[in-house]
Amino acid sequence: MSFLKKLGETVKDTASSVSAKSIDLMETGKLKMKKSQLEGGVKDKKIEIGELVYQAHKQEVTPDEFALNGIFEEIKELENQISVVEEKLRKEGAQAEEIEEASQSEVEAPVEADDVTKVFCAYCGQESSSESEARFCTNCGKPISGR
Ligand SMILES: [Zn+2]
Repeated sequence: MSFLKKLGETVKDTASSVSAKSIDLMETGKLKMKKSQLEGGVKDKKIEIGELVYQAHKQEVTPDEFALNGIFEEIKELENQISVVEEKLRKEGAQAEEIEEASQSEVEAPVEADDVTKVFCAYCGQESSSESEARFCTNCGKPISGR
């Protein structure tokens, strides 16, 4: 078996091994990627059908019905997977809107006083707000480090 043929079969195996359950565990980005991947697969299958029919016509023979039915089945399976992904995307979309609303209210929340960094004198432990411009401790007069 040639390398390219083997590679092609491996890719095919990976694509068809995606079950509804693994789709269920995907995030929106991966779902969208999966959907376009599946749609691309459908497109490829339709090209395969066209090629098959065209070659048969060219050779003046009846298109291989068995091969055609095989491709039809593969398209059906791909379309089933697409509808699973689309359903999942609809649910994810509804969830994402909720998350977005929650994070927006978080951003709008007032800044707490805790955001002000407290600085303590290394010599006597006197607390000095970082907002204060004082370079020296108000208690012992030693220079406050980090200024
Ligand atoms: Zn001090």
